[in-house]
Amino acid sequence: MSTFLGRPVVGTPLHQDLVDRLTLVEQNLRATHANLATIDQLTGAPQSFEDWVGLKESPTCTGGGLHRTGRAIDLDVNRNPYIATRTGTSFGGENPGPNGVVLTSFQRSQVVAVYDRAADFLEQGVTARVGGRASNEPTADVWRRFAAVSDALTTYFAFCFRQFPAGSFLDRPPLAFLLGGLPFIDDVSPTFAGLANRVFVDNIPTAERLPRADAQQSIAAWLADRPDLQAKGDADFWYFRVLLDHEIVRIPMLSGTPGPVAPLRTRRPGNGFLSLRPHLVQALCDVGGLRWGACDFGAGENGDMMHFDLRH
Ligand SMILES: [Zn+2]
Repeated sequence: MSTFLGRPVVGTPLHQDLVDRLTLVEQNLRATHANLATIDQLTGAPQSFEDWVGLKESPTCTGGGLHRTGRAIDLDVNRNPYIATRTGTSFGGENPGPNGVVLTSFQRSQVVAVYDRAADFLEQGVTARVGGRASNEPTADVWRRFAAVSDALTTYFAFCFRQFPAGSFLDRPPLAFLLGGLPFIDDVSPTFAGLANRVFVDNIPTAERLPRADAQQSIAAWLADRPDLQAKGDADFWYFRVLLDHEIVRIPMLSGTPGPVAPLRTRRPGNGFLSLRPHLVQALCDVGGLRWGACDFGAGENGDMMHFDLRH
């Protein structure tokens, strides 16, 4: 298979078994699109198949695991990182192999705590549902709960950060590493976040973040009728909390495979971690019978948002 969904596939040639599945997926999607006759919301013209599918990058088959034998494919890699996840009380994420640092369960829990804070900040009492697929859980439901968390991050970080194009990278090590190395954070008390870290996080370049006064003003307006959030901290606290959370949550969103030191480049958490559209993911899982790395790898390794492969 040299192309998938109209885009060239890059890397290891795909195994015929995967080609057969992806062919079914593409046929299904093309038939669905033909029946929908979707309209481009901007122009009012019929939406092309490619635009409706929504892929922005060439699919790739590179790296280890099932990619080695062409039995796996990654989609929109720049927009769909390998994130930390939580299934029940287990924390999952990328296993980089012998040369990289695996985030400890505690470190992954710190990343997931950021998801929880973002979700709760937007709607008090909500927690992030980034667990593995439950028994018989429909793909559409899995997609929806991951997308909700991804959207929550986007909204949360928009209080303090400027907007950047989807798929763009941030070229500096996460400050959370500088604060304490690995383990990167072992104190999330308000005192720590509100006092100790401001020394560091206020140094995030102004090209990335909004002016402090503007950010604190919009946070204060958000807090005004939300006593539960006010009880956790004032606008000053939340300003630093959002900046610090940005530096924690982006650690596993690194570009490439985890190495022995802090990543030099990561995706931008403000752009979320899921750009793949629900109908595409559904077709891959339910028509193609593929595993989705986000939710089908098992509790210890879930979170590979870009990845689809043949079941063992
Ligand atoms: Zn992959």
